[in-house]
Amino acid sequence: MADSASAPVRVRFAPSPTGRLHIGGLRTALYNYLFARKHDGDFILRIEDTDQSRYVEEAEQDLMRALAWSGLEYDEGPGTGGPHQPYYQSQRSGLYQRFAQKLIDSGDAYYAFDTEEEIEAMRERHASDENPSPAYNASTRMEMRNSLSLSEDEVQQLLDEGAPHVVRLKIPGNETVRFEDEVRGTVTFETGGLDDQVLLKSDGLPTYHLANVVDDHHMRISHVIRGEEWLPSTPKHVLLYNAFDWTPPTFAHLPLIMSPEGGKLSKRDSNELGIPVFVTDYREAGYEPEALLNFLALLGWNPGTEQEIFSMEELIEAFSLDRVGVSGVQFDLDKLNWYNEQYLRDMDIEVFADRLREHIAEERLPITRERIVAIAGLVQDRVSKISEVMTEHRYFFEDPDSYNEACVEKRWSETSAALLRDLAEAYEQAPAFDRDAVEQGMRTVADAHDVGLGKVIHPVRLAITGRTYGPGIFDLVVLMGRETALRRIDAVIEELG
Ligand code: GLU
Repeated sequence: MADSASAPVRVRFAPSPTGRLHIGGLRTALYNYLFARKHDGDFILRIEDTDQSRYVEEAEQDLMRALAWSGLEYDEGPGTGGPHQPYYQSQRSGLYQRFAQKLIDSGDAYYAFDTEEEIEAMRERHASDENPSPAYNASTRMEMRNSLSLSEDEVQQLLDEGAPHVVRLKIPGNETVRFEDEVRGTVTFETGGLDDQVLLKSDGLPTYHLANVVDDHHMRISHVIRGEEWLPSTPKHVLLYNAFDWTPPTFAHLPLIMSPEGGKLSKRDSNELGIPVFVTDYREAGYEPEALLNFLALLGWNPGTEQEIFSMEELIEAFSLDRVGVSGVQFDLDKLNWYNEQYLRDMDIEVFADRLREHIAEERLPITRERIVAIAGLVQDRVSKISEVMTEHRYFFEDPDSYNEACVEKRWSETSAALLRDLAEAYEQAPAFDRDAVEQGMRTVADAHDVGLGKVIHPVRLAITGRTYGPGIFDLVVLMGRETALRRIDAVIEELG
């Protein structure tokens, strides 16, 4: 075990750019970040891009965008630099080749020349009911074509000829690999069923396992905090550390994020349950990064108190690996929406306006700052995501193109048109179109017709917004301005008569 009491804390987030950043990836980054900040350590971003066949160019852009949006700043990594550059594994292959060679020299790894077909044939030869897919390991490797079974001359000749080959780790036959996991306690694995892990592929590039271990060692990573899906890889890593005679870092495997319908959270959940799976989709959907991080912090970790709303400083202060749970945690979209609402309600109005402006800018709608702040004031307590202003409250930007049927049914009566006609006239004549004039106009018309104020308010709201609920009507009408208000009142009379 690493001596975490004395070694400086250095943790890394090490995504592979094979697709867009998954929400679970952001949680992993967050826990690493919190742990680093809590222990005055370093948080490193390393791009694990050695698998050419799975490389997706946009994935890295998406990753960078997602991280920047989340606000999780790394101390070392692409763009930022640091003492262990480069932070792209694709630019470090020389290092991995050197260390693969070291293992070959020490007898802990070997060259293997087998073709796919030869390996398949071996598996078929030994397949049984108990063991349908026998491993390429201590029990079979001597019948294969590798530098353990062939003579030195044969091996040299094959290498000289440039025969395709890989480098495999010589995994001990029947051993129990044991390591301490900060989340799970002692974890043991039997080596029996493991394949002799391929370390270098035939293209000379390392597999994830070799590159990951070599880099974690060279980058002086003290704690490896990653998703549970990597737990089965850890015994291989421990064996590699042993073979190199390096001290392994401390491991902590985070619980899986589960779908509300069971199973791992997946693309299906976004299609069927509307749960975004990729981080940048949360941004699109209009979630606030602070709310998302707060939610993710408690998705797998618990503070041991009832507190749910945490500032980043509070999270850093409270976070510890021993309060991370072992079993999968269910994603709860309602909870996230609740978090988002809490953040919006508490948000400084200017910040709210800033964020709203980003959404408005995306649609290139011309609007003044003053007006955005005014809209913000009207909707801040009414939306659970700022993006809803652009959808649910579209009337701020455009005349309604239809009137909600249920609202019409309930609130539009035979007298509505006459009331609105009188109101329009009052508004036309009002010396100033301010809150007083707007309110007074409605009251006067209601009195003149001897009806309650509601008989005027609801149809006005229908005219302005296309429905009969929403922000305070007087402020809303003032904000829309005289011209727009009159136009919309005319339109609703025209349409509903
Ligand atoms: N490259 C791995 C991934 O895509 C990293 C796993 C680890 O943290 O070791 O998640």
